[in-house]
Amino acid sequence: MKEFYQISGEESKQRVNGTLEPLTMEEVKKHQEKYGPNELVEGKKKTTIQIFLEQFKDFLVIILIVAAVVSGFLGDAESAAVILIVITINAILGTVQTVKAEQSLSSLKKLSGPEAKVLRGGNIIPIPSAKVTVGDIVMLDAGDYIPADGRLLESASLKVDESALTGESLGVEKNTETICGEVPLGDRINMVYSGSFVTYGRGSFLVTGIGMETEVGKIASLLKSTSEKRTPLQINLDQFGQKLSIIILVFCAILFGVNVLRGGNIGDAFLFAVALAVAAIPEALSSIVTIVLSFGTQKMAKEHAIIRKLQAVEGLGSVSIICSDKTGTLTQNKMTVEDYYVNETRVPVDQIDIKRPAQSMLLLCSVLCNDSTNVDGVEIGDPTETALINLGSRLGVFAQDAREKYPRESENPFDSDRKLMSTLHTIDGNHVMIVKGAVDVLLNRMKSIQIHDQVRDFTEEDRRIIEAQNQEFSKGGLRVLGFAYKETGDRCDLTLEDETDLVFVGLISMMDPPREESKAAVAECKKAGIRPIMITGDHKVTAAAIAKRIGILEQDSEACEGAEIDHMSDEQLKDFVEGISVYARVSPEHKIRIVRAWQEKGNIVSMTGDGVNDAPALKQADIGVAMGITGSEVSKDAASMVLTDDNFATIVKAVENGRNVYRNIKNSIQFLLSGNFGAILAVLYASIAGLPVPFAPVHLLFINLLTDSLPAIALGLEPHSEDVMEEKPRPMNESILTKDFLLKIGTEGLSIGITTMIAFMIGYRQNALLASTMAFGTLCTARLVHGFNCKSDYPVLFQKRFFNNIYLIGAFVLGLVLITGVMMVPGLHSIFKVQSLSIGQLFTVYGLAVVNLPVIQLIKAVKQAYRKRK
Ligand code: ATP
Repeated sequence: MKEFYQISGEESKQRVNGTLEPLTMEEVKKHQEKYGPNELVEGKKKTTIQIFLEQFKDFLVIILIVAAVVSGFLGDAESAAVILIVITINAILGTVQTVKAEQSLSSLKKLSGPEAKVLRGGNIIPIPSAKVTVGDIVMLDAGDYIPADGRLLESASLKVDESALTGESLGVEKNTETICGEVPLGDRINMVYSGSFVTYGRGSFLVTGIGMETEVGKIASLLKSTSEKRTPLQINLDQFGQKLSIIILVFCAILFGVNVLRGGNIGDAFLFAVALAVAAIPEALSSIVTIVLSFGTQKMAKEHAIIRKLQAVEGLGSVSIICSDKTGTLTQNKMTVEDYYVNETRVPVDQIDIKRPAQSMLLLCSVLCNDSTNVDGVEIGDPTETALINLGSRLGVFAQDAREKYPRESENPFDSDRKLMSTLHTIDGNHVMIVKGAVDVLLNRMKSIQIHDQVRDFTEEDRRIIEAQNQEFSKGGLRVLGFAYKETGDRCDLTLEDETDLVFVGLISMMDPPREESKAAVAECKKAGIRPIMITGDHKVTAAAIAKRIGILEQDSEACEGAEIDHMSDEQLKDFVEGISVYARVSPEHKIRIVRAWQEKGNIVSMTGDGVNDAPALKQADIGVAMGITGSEVSKDAASMVLTDDNFATIVKAVENGRNVYRNIKNSIQFLLSGNFGAILAVLYASIAGLPVPFAPVHLLFINLLTDSLPAIALGLEPHSEDVMEEKPRPMNESILTKDFLLKIGTEGLSIGITTMIAFMIGYRQNALLASTMAFGTLCTARLVHGFNCKSDYPVLFQKRFFNNIYLIGAFVLGLVLITGVMMVPGLHSIFKVQSLSIGQLFTVYGLAVVNLPVIQLIKAVKQAYRKRK
């Protein structure tokens, strides 16, 4: 049987669908059942049991298991049982956290999955690529990913990047012609393949293979795995954790030696050293980061920002430059035509008279050289073009009718580098090319001008007058397109070289008002020490007018055109960018240079983009941001964040979320480390002062593995607050463990350690078991109370905010019930190596634990006052 590239598009349709018509909805369903989803089968996922078992691979858990076995041998079956139970509960907690974090990340991936436009039931509809099936007809535009393998049915200057499949990085020009004989994959230019993408032009194809049956599916096992990389913060914490673990293990080994030398029981000394190591080593650090990051990304997704790369959440907190497109991001992208400029006069939209030849020609040009459609109010296409066909409908010239009467014979699609688009039609028996695009680009290509029904030579004076008019429109923040045409004689196939010697018809100006929220978001950025910068393909004067309205630009000198940076060296550009807030008429290459210049000045840069050519700039930026609604699939793939509402304000909100997430992670770490430090100090003190060890191993395990994890996670889920936007961006390379941070951990740990030892000494006046019980109770409760201290760097004791974290309150109550139960329920005493407390002693424990609250809050208040004075 012949391959699809060896038969025509029509024959292919017959072979796949048995008909030339597009699939009906019922047929689609049947095909989906028969061929399954259009997905590559990923490597097997880990089961919950596997995740549970992995919890026991941890170095510390292995030590604990050894410790349990040792105590079992030494005849201490109770201790062995307690250790094993605690480890199991801890492993269950760990499994639940890991499974939840994985679920939330995979649901996030689904949200940002690729889409395809297919022809079904007579309409073009966007669907998730996974739902594309054999027999579907898929429409392709520049920037689209090709979702399946198939035979091309239509190609208008279509170029495809097939490098993922063939390694060929140059775009391959495609056409629909049947190929005779056998040719290799790269030469089958009438076929498109899943995994490649459209770099230029338009087209459509019939799906002939999906999922694992595609060419890329056949080599799927060779594709690189998509496992999440660890974020810089996780790596940083892992390294810190490793170093700290070594120090602690050495310390514990010394303590073990000292205890044995003092004549202690070797088994007990070993158990204690192990328990102290477990208590002191912050093994949960990196998993807390995963949980908090995944919670943060869920919240961001609800607020219209979908994170595609987990690192972006951390990076957002350090963003100091936000480069944003104008159209649709800072403006509403709801365009309406305001004026015509024809016959050397400005004509407001309500005075357009299509009985006049030049005005009628301008309108015809604007609906024919146009890809948008509006069927029963459903607008598909570029809003600039939609505005033009909507005006046509209002004036009785319907796009669909005009396009049927004068069908398109050839075209040069719009691209944002060339800033032009042209189409060819037969009008009144002549081949006529219509060109529309940026006025400054178009004016260089004129030969004549139409005035009423006459065509005469285009003069320098015409050019000057039109430029002045363009300037006037632009000053009002209007977007302007120029229109021209020419007869091409016998030629019925367009090339880019044809876009010269044109006849000027007129200008059309359109209004695209700024989004209401843009101004406030720009002000918020500035307050947060972030510089907002507009980078647009539009005219400089239009861009500056809009930028002024929303507060990005203060003086006209802060606006420039992309071409101005062409002749600058990278060094010169680094100085230049400082004074510029608006870049107009920018090409994608300019975007990369601007990002790089800011990065070299030590900034973390966020950059938005939507077109296929924006992908390199999005990759270069620290946080590449793609547009969910108007963005191409390629730009979404290159971005680390996708905005589902295309809104600038969402980026600012995401920065706020990023800062909050980082702060919460930091608070969680502070909670864990300061509590651990308090325990170590108490042990150290006892050891130096020649007192009995203040805790039994089971105490430390109880605190570290049970009552401590929940507040740490709860702190990570602390409600976000806006005050993070009052600070400057966090320096890029700043380690989380700054001197200031370590000092805080030190003082807070000291406070917890002191209160714990006071409790110990009070109990020690009676007996060692009571001392140890009171020390255990105080340390455990103090750490629960300390959770509230770690909510903020500022004192919050008398604020509403103190009670705003329901998870923290829950963790506190649960922890308190557990520790009180252990101390007060007689049946548990022997297991947990404690003795009964009197009510007075119980309240002494609570009291000493709570003392940490005012003390640490006071320290925070003093620090705050000191910071303000500075
Ligand atoms: P931004 O970069 O902020 O999204 P933009 O939409 O103006 O702004 P581009 O889409 O790159 O950027 O367009 C650049 C210029 O090309 C526009 O200013 C306009 O003059 C012209 N243009 C835009 N859309 C079309 C189109 N569909 N056909 C012809 N010319 C167009």
